[in-house]
Amino acid sequence: MYAFTYEAPGTAADAAALAGQGGQYLAGGQSLLPSMRLRLAQPGQIVDLNRVEGLAGITVTAQAVEIRAMTRHADVAANPQVQAAIPALAELAGGIGDRQVRARGTLGGSLANNDPAACYPSAVLGLGARIITDRREIAADDFFQGMYATALDSGELITAVRFPVPKKAAYLKFKQPASRFALVGVFVAQTQQGVRVAVTGAGLSVFRHAGLEAALNQSFTPDAAAQVLIDHTELNSDLHASARYRAQLISVQTQRAVSQMLG
Ligand SMILES: Cc1cc2nc3c(=O)[nH]c(=O)nc-3n(C[C@H](O)[C@H](O)[C@H](O)COP(=O)(O)OP(=O)(O)OC[C@H]3O[C@@H](n4cnc5c(N)ncnc54)[C@H](O)[C@@H]3O)c2cc1C
Repeated sequence: MYAFTYEAPGTAADAAALAGQGGQYLAGGQSLLPSMRLRLAQPGQIVDLNRVEGLAGITVTAQAVEIRAMTRHADVAANPQVQAAIPALAELAGGIGDRQVRARGTLGGSLANNDPAACYPSAVLGLGARIITDRREIAADDFFQGMYATALDSGELITAVRFPVPKKAAYLKFKQPASRFALVGVFVAQTQQGVRVAVTGAGLSVFRHAGLEAALNQSFTPDAAAQVLIDHTELNSDLHASARYRAQLISVQTQRAVSQMLG
């Protein structure tokens, strides 16, 4: 074991001040604690967000679903207002990991971690959400910057995420059966600005697929998606799936998402 100090502040301002002195936030601990056990992370100070006032909760209006950073996956999945406004988002949250992960894991932790196979980043990017921090608002298109990398500055605290309500959306995940992370997950949304397609699990980080978006903006049909050639050369290849297989999954999952949205 190595030494670290532990703080559990009651306000976001106190949490941010501690992080400014080098502390690392602890949310649900579902990614951070395993990393610490494996010595992949060795923070000198833990800043537990679980007692910070006002950092959890959900607000739904006709235009947007705003989810505070410490809201657990299980609470998003079970929220009737989220289920009504953006059913794909509630379903995505309900399909993350297992019961324990969903009971502890949080939206803010998932986004700050930006695991290449995480589900939430695809919804944030696919819906064109905005990430709200203690310092600014960041557009989804600017937030995800590579493998486990985001636009967050050191000590910057995610406080909430605002998801615009789409006309329709669907998330199709092909699970890696052991971890239940996405081997490939595709989030398709018909937004006021057109179709957005975000892919997780296939590359170094979540990404939008310009070819699929262009095809689906022309003709929102599974056939249109099927005509798009998915380049495999920059996709992940590992013991679970080759890059070519992941490319095929992107195509098939997109076609299925479109079929689901067409009812
Ligand atoms: C077995 C297993 C299966 C899983 N399956 C899936 C899956 O299918 N899909 C999926 O999407 N995820 C999956 N996960 C990951 C899960 O969703 C985690 O909850 C998530 O990655 C991290 O959230 P957390 O709240 O636990 O964050 P933590 O582990 O507490 O923190 C993660 C990182 O985020 C930082 N952080 C936390 N909160 C904030 C904040 N508000 N502002 C800034 N930085 C912050 C922390 O400092 C840390 O660096 C799985 C995890 C496990 C263990």
